[in-house]
Amino acid sequence: MKVKEQLLSLQAYDPGKSIDNVKKELGLTEIVNLASNENPFGCSEQISEALRSISHFAHYPDSRAEDLREKLAKQLNIEEQQLLFSSGLDEMIQIISRSLLTPESNVVMASFTFPQFRHHAVIEKSEIRAVPLKDGRHDLLSMQNEVDEKTSIVWICNPNNPTGTYVTETEIRGLLESVPDETLVVLDEAYFEYVTAEDYPDAMKLVNEYNNLLVLRTFSKGYGLAGFRIGYAIGDTTLISQFNISRLPFNTSQFAQVAARAALDDQAFIEESKNRNQEGLKQFYTFCNAYQIPYYPSQGNFIYIEPEQDLDEVFQYLIQRGYIVRPIKDGIRITVGKYEENEQVIALLKEILVDHRTIKLSS
Ligand SMILES: *Cc1c(COP(=O)(O)O)cnc(C)c1O
Repeated sequence: MKVKEQLLSLQAYDPGKSIDNVKKELGLTEIVNLASNENPFGCSEQISEALRSISHFAHYPDSRAEDLREKLAKQLNIEEQQLLFSSGLDEMIQIISRSLLTPESNVVMASFTFPQFRHHAVIEKSEIRAVPLKDGRHDLLSMQNEVDEKTSIVWICNPNNPTGTYVTETEIRGLLESVPDETLVVLDEAYFEYVTAEDYPDAMKLVNEYNNLLVLRTFSKGYGLAGFRIGYAIGDTTLISQFNISRLPFNTSQFAQVAARAALDDQAFIEESKNRNQEGLKQFYTFCNAYQIPYYPSQGNFIYIEPEQDLDEVFQYLIQRGYIVRPIKDGIRITVGKYEENEQVIALLKEILVDHRTIKLSS
């Protein structure tokens, strides 16, 4: 069989070892996964209750997700037709890429960001213009310089995964003013619910000012519903109706729709997750500051640190003691967990990054 040749330059998503496998291999009873930015507090307690109302498994789900659409549009104060739902943002990135990209087009993105933007551009054979981060942040001015009349998409991950950094409303406006109307600017706001920065963009306002802006959000992170696979895009109604042609007819399950709707009703859960995340981030900042471990201040539920040690060694040290983190390039991304989990992973980090260092020096 001869698959498209561009597939051969890519790799399938690597989910890593399952928690059960790691437990068995290492003889551990408890594993804390701080590698996937899942909500450590789970999800709203109201979800299970809502799911019990579903009894017809033989029916297809509502293709338009009407009930969820109505509730979400009201909450965001936008038109219902400005919304598109997908099986998580992973699928949304595919829908967008499939709808817009051709081998003649190019895409502009950061060189160190969410990998799926690049993945789908390669599949569509679009040229990739990857711009290095500046101090861990999207360098919007340099990205702007890469945009020409063939640029289909500018991807901006805000806050950026894996660095946790963000760009401000003023910076986004500058970019939107400079790019051609035919270039779509996508703001991936997967961690929106965790953001506390005052100058973070008000994307709902921007979306109504700029037809070429699309905003992505998900129920996977702050809402704690990663297992259901549901996310959404907000944009210009014409554009949304065109993307709607590319999506699968039943891309979100009835379970996902019902869970998402119940989740929207429990904003107290989001508030609490956000506050606890702030406390968790402080635990990590205090540790990093005390021992001069480089890190980026984060607007997400994760922190990216850049220790000087061998990262694989650090990873192994932690996993053997029950904590899974994610080494990426020159650093390690750690999901902010519950207070105790943070304390423990920090204690382990201190052993391997600080005490170890001293032991080595003195022996
Ligand atoms: C987790 C994540 C996604 C994918 O989220 P799903 O909705 O679970 O598919 C997309 N973008 C970023 C930046 C993410 O971190």
